[in-house]
Amino acid sequence: MVNITRTLLALAFSGLLVACASPDGSGPSTGDKRELASAPSGAAVGFAPEDSLSLCPRMQVSNAPATDGQGKVRGYRPFATFNGVKLLVNPAPRGCLSSSFGSRNGRLHKGVDYQSDPAGPVVAAGPGTVLESGYRDDYGNYVLIDHGAGVYTRYAHLASRTGAAGQGKAVKLGTQLGIMGNTASYRIPVHLHYEVLLGDYGTPSKSFGLEPVDPFSKM
Ligand SMILES: [Zn+2]
Repeated sequence: MVNITRTLLALAFSGLLVACASPDGSGPSTGDKRELASAPSGAAVGFAPEDSLSLCPRMQVSNAPATDGQGKVRGYRPFATFNGVKLLVNPAPRGCLSSSFGSRNGRLHKGVDYQSDPAGPVVAAGPGTVLESGYRDDYGNYVLIDHGAGVYTRYAHLASRTGAAGQGKAVKLGTQLGIMGNTASYRIPVHLHYEVLLGDYGTPSKSFGLEPVDPFSKM
């Protein structure tokens, strides 16, 4: 009995040490299988993708995908794959879909919008490196992540950005980037505007030379 207790204590401490060694709290498996059972390997600790997505109730959702009787997106999968890179379709845990990708009011809506009440966290859609983290009049507080293979994601209108979302930082799937908000130079509801972008960032146009794509098209 004493031996078992000692072994358990040793395991608990080794787990603590590993957890403390990762500054963003997203270290490797700590041995606590209960907590990490549903998290994909390599994901930030405590993060698990949601296996369903609902349209925001009582809203006119542009380009809304087909739903079941309860407003859940039919055939929803948590991940979409671009150039072999797996990305979350919804990087706003607990968020609902408020606007989809495509033509909206005669213009191309280059991303997907998610809302939650109260405003919820926004996480990295996949592992990568923060390429840009800043403020623009059109995107408000935003983060742009390079996932490799010519795949990028942008998260706009954040109320705040976390330290983990600083330029040059490596992020994991599920690393929290900030809280959704309504920052921009014009009035908008609190939401996340999420873009998946493909192409070559190394041109004078940088991210604006990239092609926006619909994450629902590849899930
Ligand atoms: Zn949007």
